[in-house]
Amino acid sequence: MRRLIFAIPLAMALAACATSPTGRTQLMLVPPDLAINESRMAYEQTLGELTDSGQMLYDPALAGRVGRIVGRLAAVAVQTWPHTAGWEWSVVLIDDPEMVNAWCMAGGRMAIYSGLVNKLDPSDDELAHVLGHEISHAVANHSAEQMSLAILQGLAVAAVELETGDRGTTAAADMLATVALDLPNSRSAEYEADQLGMELAHKAGYEPAAAATLWDKMRAEGGWAGVLQFLSTHPNPDDRAARLAIQADRLRNQLPPRPPEPHPVRIHP
Ligand SMILES: [Zn+2]
Repeated sequence: MRRLIFAIPLAMALAACATSPTGRTQLMLVPPDLAINESRMAYEQTLGELTDSGQMLYDPALAGRVGRIVGRLAAVAVQTWPHTAGWEWSVVLIDDPEMVNAWCMAGGRMAIYSGLVNKLDPSDDELAHVLGHEISHAVANHSAEQMSLAILQGLAVAAVELETGDRGTTAAADMLATVALDLPNSRSAEYEADQLGMELAHKAGYEPAAAATLWDKMRAEGGWAGVLQFLSTHPNPDDRAARLAIQADRLRNQLPPRPPEPHPVRIHP
């Protein structure tokens, strides 16, 4: 019995592994399509709430700028990963002057907060790195991976509980699962999004060194993933900056690619 209980989560984990775009092994109990479906519903709900609260940002100049940058990034993503051609590439501009943030859900649905634009005053190159990073989380199925880890964690704790009869682990398991879902990404997922994001931005014709200047601004502002640092899942800022600098040096020695024709992107509002 004991062996069987522990064998179930283990077998599920072994049966459901995928390989990320950088070659990392990922636990994938949740099919990426399911994560895309879930995020479509969440996005529509978010758009509705933003409309109701009057928080959609009407700014034609910013909308045009974001549309051009995301269009080029999406074009490279579609060239590199053809399945993303069927994504509903879209960005909502959110009026929230204190929030230094941007995100991209599974399936290419994105958001930018006005705080990121106002507080960081990013160049197009810097903005391309933020958005490239966020798109990379989606392309590498990081939310499906996070959901899978939370499920496995729950199963493992339930197995221990069955075995030991200790109900006290339930509360701990619930908390762990919540933390796993609330945290958008693990540390390795962050490094992966950094690496893929810089490649994406570079191929879309943006300056690799802008990732470092962007990161300096982020760090000064304490924004973006800064809020996650209390849980120590976020990469050490110095380590991250050093990795980005090494990759930027490598890319700088390559010929700058020709920017692609932008892929269609819908901007809300
Ligand atoms: Zn990230």
